[in-house]
Amino acid sequence: LFLPVLNTSEVARPLAPVEAAAPRTHGAKLWLPQRVLFTPDALQEDYGQQILARAEALNLDIELLKSNRLTGLRGPDERATYRAAKTTLAVVNAPAGALRLQPTPPSADYQLNLAEGCPAHCQYCYLAGSLSGPPVVCAFANLPKLLTNTQLYERADRPVSFEASCYTDVLGIEHLTGALAETVKYFAGREGGRLRFVSKYDHVESLLGLPHNGHTRARASLNAEPLARQLEGGTASIEARIQALRRLALPVAQGGGGYPVGVVLAPIMPLPDWQRHYGELLDRLQAAFDFDCDLTVEFITHRFTPGSKEVLLGWYPNTSLDLEESTRAVKRNKFGGLKYVYDLPTMKELKAWFTSEWQRCFPNAPVQYWT
Ligand code: SF4
Repeated sequence: LFLPVLNTSEVARPLAPVEAAAPRTHGAKLWLPQRVLFTPDALQEDYGQQILARAEALNLDIELLKSNRLTGLRGPDERATYRAAKTTLAVVNAPAGALRLQPTPPSADYQLNLAEGCPAHCQYCYLAGSLSGPPVVCAFANLPKLLTNTQLYERADRPVSFEASCYTDVLGIEHLTGALAETVKYFAGREGGRLRFVSKYDHVESLLGLPHNGHTRARASLNAEPLARQLEGGTASIEARIQALRRLALPVAQGGGGYPVGVVLAPIMPLPDWQRHYGELLDRLQAAFDFDCDLTVEFITHRFTPGSKEVLLGWYPNTSLDLEESTRAVKRNKFGGLKYVYDLPTMKELKAWFTSEWQRCFPNAPVQYWT
C-alpha cells in the first residue's frame, strides 16, 4: 500500500506542472489490514461469520472484542492515528440510524452504506470531514437487514436508485467482505430498486459471473493521469480501472459481466494543460469502449469545505492539492454550510469542454449530471 510521506514542517503547495509520461498500468494491491476487529454483535450475524471465515483464510490478525464499542483507535498523534486506522478493518453492526436512508442527489435517490471508510489514500478524499473519528474501515455485518430495509424506499411509479459508494470504496474491500456481490444479487431480484457503485479498484473477477438482471450500474472513478498519479495513493492505475470497467461492460458471451456501466470523472481539476491530459483520458476510454454497451458519465469538479481542508492537511501535510480559498467561489447549502468551488468562468469553461468532448467521443452515452 502507498502511504504518503508525512512531514508536518511543510505546507500545502499548488499542483506542480506535470510532464507527459507513459501511463501506468498496474492494478491495485489487495488490501490486507493488519488488524481485523469483530464486535460481539457482528459475530452474531451469519454474514459476520462469513467475513470472519474470509479473514481467517487470509491469515489476518483477528481480534474478537468484548464490547460493541470501538475504542483505543487513536495513536499518539494525527499521523499515527491515520496510519493505524488505514490498516484496520472493524466488522460491526450498522447502528439503527443507518436504516433511515439519506437522499444523495444527484448521483442516486438514496445512500446504501455497506461499509464506511476506505483503504485508499486519495489526498482530496471525500470522506475527510464527513466521517468522524479515525478513518478505520468499518464493514457492516447486518447486511441482510440493510438490504431488505431498502424495500421501504421503493416506489410504484419508477425504480428507486441506491448508491453504495457514498462512504467507502466497496470494491476495494470486496475480497474481505463479499458485500458487493451479495448486494448485486439482491437487487437483481428487485423490480423497484437499482444499485449503483463506483470504484478506483480493479478487482472485478468476483462480479463477472453474478446474476444482476441489469439492475446494477458499475462505475469507475477516473481522472487525468497526472492527478491520479499524484493524488490517488493505493488505488489501481487509470488504465487498470478502464480495463476493469471494460470487462464489467463486455457481454457475458465474450467473458464480460454484461453490466450497465458508467464513468465518474472526478474530481475534475484545471491542472496545467488540462485539455491535453483529460483529452488523453477520453482517447483511452474510447479505445477501450469499442463495442456497444450501456454507458453513462458523471462530471464532478473539485470542491472542499473548511472542515475537509483541515482534516486533509492533517492527513497529508505535503499535499500538492490546491486548497486555496482565495481563488475559489463560495457555495452555501440550505443549512448554512459552505464549500469552495471553482469560480464561474472556470466552471463554465470546464463544463463546455467536458460536455462537448464527451458527446463527440461517446454520442450514445448520456451525461447524468455536472456538478
Ligand atoms: Fe477517499 Fe474515495 Fe479515495 Fe477512498 S477511493 S480514499 S473514499 S476518495
